[in-house]
Amino acid sequence: MQVIIIGSGCGVPSLRRGSPGMLLKTDKENILFDTGAGTLRKLLEIDITYHDIDYIFYSHLHPDHTLDLVSFLFAMKYAGSPRRKDLHLIGPDGFRDFYDSLLEVYGNTIQPELYELYLKEIGEGEHKYSDWKLLTKRLPHTEVSLGYRIELGDKRITYSGDTEYCQNIVALARDVNLLILECSFPEEVKGHLSPSSAGRIAKESNCHKLVLTHLYPICDQSDILNQCRKEFEREVVVAEDLMRFEM
Ligand SMILES: [Zn+2]
Ligand SMILES: [Zn+2]
Repeated sequence: MQVIIIGSGCGVPSLRRGSPGMLLKTDKENILFDTGAGTLRKLLEIDITYHDIDYIFYSHLHPDHTLDLVSFLFAMKYAGSPRRKDLHLIGPDGFRDFYDSLLEVYGNTIQPELYELYLKEIGEGEHKYSDWKLLTKRLPHTEVSLGYRIELGDKRITYSGDTEYCQNIVALARDVNLLILECSFPEEVKGHLSPSSAGRIAKESNCHKLVLTHLYPICDQSDILNQCRKEFEREVVVAEDLMRFEM
């Protein structure tokens, strides 16, 4: 299994960092979390096309996490190479209304034709898929934001989406091999994490390795790595686009 950070940035344009997206590659499936602008194109750099994605999960519906959904659905209808494989789209409460409003705007240009689209809203809980399991908890960012914990065999990964410090993210990250946390700004800002609060979550959850992502440009002018290391003694990595973690 591999985890690949597709975009390590946020919604602010950056030549270094794309908008949020994370790919989980198992032996059987490609599972994508969030699709910020540019995700679809960036995936080509690791030889993944719109044909190859099996699941897309959304942490919340902010533009920096969802903009490329339209690009995916539009590309999948390209007559020269249309998608024919089922697609699973999963998001928090309100995701169906969100999708329906996209259909209202873009109509037939994004409406699935040659493939089945299974759209599902999920809340907190445990969800079973082929050979992996998902645990979700609400995180304080929007009213419906979800954090994801993926378990496959003895491997455990947590992806926060956007959040601030809370017990739910600590619980979701308990003992994981890899904890991928947003770290928006060097200083604490409501609704987001700083290097210190990310480090605190990593420490309290007893995760093995911490990855900081969703970095605003200001993070690159600050020593966020050492700020975080003051809280968490194990390995901390500042994400870059297309950074890959072998599990
Ligand atoms: Zn957000
Ligand atoms: Zn965001």
